[in-house]
Amino acid sequence: STNDLHGSIPVYKPTPYDQIEEIYSTLNERFNSRDTLSLAYRLYNLKQLAYLIQDNEKRIQHAVHTDLNKGGFDVNLGDLWPILNEIDLAIRRVEDWMKDESRIWDAMLSFKSMRPRIKKQPKGVALIISAWNFPWQLTLIPLVGAISAGCPAVLKVSEHAPSSSALLAELLPRYLDPKGYAVVLGAAEESTKLLEKPWGHILYTGSGNVGKIVAAAAAKTLTPTTLELGGKSPVIVSSCADLKIAAKRMFTIKQMAAGQICIAPDYVLVVKDKVDEFIKVCKETLDDLFPPSPSPYSFLHTPQSASMRNDNDLDRMISYIDEAEQKGKLVHRGELNKDTRRLGVSLVRTNVNAQGESGGLMEDEVFGPVMAIIPVENIDAAIKYINDRPHPLALYVCAGKRSVFKKVIDETWSGSATWNDFGFATLARNLPFGGVGASGWGSYHGKDGFDTFTHHKAVLEIPYIFEPLMSLRYPPMSTLGKTL
Ligand code: NAD
Repeated sequence: STNDLHGSIPVYKPTPYDQIEEIYSTLNERFNSRDTLSLAYRLYNLKQLAYLIQDNEKRIQHAVHTDLNKGGFDVNLGDLWPILNEIDLAIRRVEDWMKDESRIWDAMLSFKSMRPRIKKQPKGVALIISAWNFPWQLTLIPLVGAISAGCPAVLKVSEHAPSSSALLAELLPRYLDPKGYAVVLGAAEESTKLLEKPWGHILYTGSGNVGKIVAAAAAKTLTPTTLELGGKSPVIVSSCADLKIAAKRMFTIKQMAAGQICIAPDYVLVVKDKVDEFIKVCKETLDDLFPPSPSPYSFLHTPQSASMRNDNDLDRMISYIDEAEQKGKLVHRGELNKDTRRLGVSLVRTNVNAQGESGGLMEDEVFGPVMAIIPVENIDAAIKYINDRPHPLALYVCAGKRSVFKKVIDETWSGSATWNDFGFATLARNLPFGGVGASGWGSYHGKDGFDTFTHHKAVLEIPYIFEPLMSLRYPPMSTLGKTL
């Protein structure tokens, strides 16, 4: 009955402080009861999470559409299928992940008989603070890791996706153990309140500036953190690249979610002999993929096209575009509908030394559909450009030769690196998802999500029968002395 496109969206109302206190103690009691440890409890909640999504698909699509103007297919592709994919893996593998891990093979001879091993234990009640741009996936994939690890969890969802956040708050207690998992609604204030408390683990997704606040607060309670941040993810286009394929694949993701994706390609470093041709191919490709108005296929009219989150973000994009135009650097202007906040991909041609000259476009994480194309001398110059800046979350290399990709990944640091395509590293549920340096620390997805919320306890067994051996080191060490 809830599977109704126009199903109602609950009202968004921040969670009062006293309720936050109550949630915190209820979840800690649940953890202390040890109920969350059993495989059966974990599997039950993982399956219930899948049912929550499947039963309410249309309502969820409606909520995300209300928040971000995304179409149903985009919601499934970007939010719901990745979560179901993760749940599927966790249900198949969690029993194995939970098992003790023997370390007997690498042990010294005298330690082998002590059954050296790793025991996996949930770290405690987890705090998951998520961002607005993929409000379901960024909240529920971390939750899959927490459930798999046996951790209860508080989900502090984003105030910038209020319909999705309020709907999750309604649905979660109906599907999952309400004493083990809870949603807190609110913004910085509620987050701050939560961050005052000690947790088993905190996983935060959002901007680097708030990431620093989260890390500083967590340091006060010595809570371990995973920070999933953003940054400027570069693309390198080598002279051996297939320009047409590169442009098609790149713009498909750059237009998706109006470029508001943490791993969206941010700027393109193109080996200079290919720049003119690349720009020509880019313009043709954009016209092919997103035919301009009055075509009925213009993305301005298709319900699948996402919008910029708010007028401020749209104005920031427009200022990048206008500034580039004034300086004669705009090579393609994307179509714009201010009312729906839809904006097509715009391209700016600039150069390596353009810091300051090209303003924020070269400095900020763009997080929207504007892209700088920057000519570079060669692949070494592209590598230097990247290494002179904070480590990106994702890095993309377009090249015919695998050796070019190999050189780039050997010589640069980034959360992930992909040869000839964009965004796929997040969908590979068997690969860790996370940044390095300024793009974040720690990772999750699949087994890495389980490990993030798991304490790996070192265990040794030294029974009394080993006394003759162990007594060798008792003071005054007479026996050892004689032996040696
Ligand atoms: P946001 O505004 O939704 O904020 C993220 C979370 O932080 C929210 O839950 C918010 O309530 C909370 N928050 C805000 N101010 C706070 C404060 N002072 N103290 C404690 N908590 C606070 O999201 P955003 O930051 O606009 O997200 C965009 C950024 O996130 C981009 O930089 C993007 O690249 C990055 N991002 C990263 C990933 C990833 O997986 N690495 C995914 C999505 C977005």
